[in-house]
Amino acid sequence: VSQRAFNFSAGPAVLPVSVLQEVQDELLCLPGARTSLMEMSHREKEFIEILHDAENSLRSLMGISDDYAVLFLQGGAALQFSMIPANLLRGTDKTAAYIQTGTWGKKAIGEAKKEGKINVVYDAATSNFNHVPAAGDYQVADDAAYLYYCSNETIQGVQFQSEPECPSSVPLISDASSDFLCRPLDINKYGLLYACAQKNAGPAGVTAVIIRRDLLDRGSDQLPGYLNYKNHAENDSEWNTPPTFAIYVLGKVARWLTNDIGGLDAMEKINREKSQLLYSAIDESDGFYASHAKPDCRSTMNVTFNLPNDELLTAFIKGAAENDLVNLKGHRSVGGIRASIYNAMPREGVECLANFMKDFASKNG
Ligand code: PMP
Repeated sequence: VSQRAFNFSAGPAVLPVSVLQEVQDELLCLPGARTSLMEMSHREKEFIEILHDAENSLRSLMGISDDYAVLFLQGGAALQFSMIPANLLRGTDKTAAYIQTGTWGKKAIGEAKKEGKINVVYDAATSNFNHVPAAGDYQVADDAAYLYYCSNETIQGVQFQSEPECPSSVPLISDASSDFLCRPLDINKYGLLYACAQKNAGPAGVTAVIIRRDLLDRGSDQLPGYLNYKNHAENDSEWNTPPTFAIYVLGKVARWLTNDIGGLDAMEKINREKSQLLYSAIDESDGFYASHAKPDCRSTMNVTFNLPNDELLTAFIKGAAENDLVNLKGHRSVGGIRASIYNAMPREGVECLANFMKDFASKNG
C-alpha cells in the first residue's frame, strides 16, 4: 500500500483500499466456496447471493423501491447510448429530447440519431461546454419520448447541481457514470439512471441500469435479445453470463459506502469539502489557474483547470508525479489539468494536490 500513488485517473479509477484488500484476501478461494469467484458458475448459489447482495446494497444506499429494476449489464456506458433509444424511441413516432453539456452527451446524441427522431433542446457546445442550463433555458414537449442528460460531464468537469426541469409526463434519463453514488438523489424523479462502474463504483466491466418497471415493456421483441431491457429484468441480470467479478467488487464498494462512509449524505459532505480544497486553490491563485467550468456547475468529481502556458502545464504534471500525484493530465479535447477525485480518493490525496498547486503557483506565478 505504501507504494500506491494518489491516482487522479478519470476512470478506471481509484478504489477504496479496504475493498481491494478484501478482494485480495478472497481471491484464491471465496470463503465457503472452495474456488475463486472468477472460476465459479454464475448460477452457483454463492454467486447468486453476491448478485443479490450487490443489488440490495444499491437499493438501500439509494432508496430504490420495487417500482424499479436494477440491472447489471455489459457494454459499458456507451452501449446505453444505443439501448436507451433502441428500447424507448425506436418504432415510435415520438421525439426524444437531449441536453448536450459535454462530450459524453454528444456521443449519446450521435448514437440516438440512428434509432429515431431526437431534438437537442439545449446545447452548450458554443461556450465550450463550460456550464449547464438553468430552468427556463430550454423547453421539453409534454409528449417527448424522454429527456436525456449527463449529470456530470467527466471530460469538462461540469455537473448538474440537481435534476434538470422535466415535464412529469416525460421520463427523465441520466448518464450518471462519473457521479454515481457521490450524493443522495431521489430516484423517483427518474425513468432510468445508469452508470458504468469504473469511476465511482468498481472496476470496468459492469454498468448499473436502474429503470422504472413500466418502461420495460417498451422494447420491441424484434430487438436483439441483449439490447432488450426486459430480458435482463426478467432474468435477474442473468439472461446471459453477467460480469461476475465486476459485480462482486461493485457490491463491496456499495457496502463500503454504507458501513465505512455512513451513506450518501456523508459521502456528499466529504466530496464537497474535497473539491472545495482544489477550487479554493484555483480561485486564490490570482488567475494563475483558470477553471474550465463556471462556478455554479463545477464538478465535485472532476476538477478541470488550465495553466498559463504549455511549458508550465508540462512542468506541473512532472512535478506532481514526483510528489506521488499521478494521472492529472486533462483530456486532449479540453487540455490543462483534470483531477478526478472520486469517492475513493482519500482527503489526504486532495490536500497534497492543493498544497502542490499553491506551491507551484507561488514559484511560477
Ligand atoms: N458517460 C460518461 C459520463 C463517461 O465518463 C464515460 C466514460 N468515460 C462514458 C459514458 C463511456 O463509458 P464506457 O467507456 O464504459 O462505455
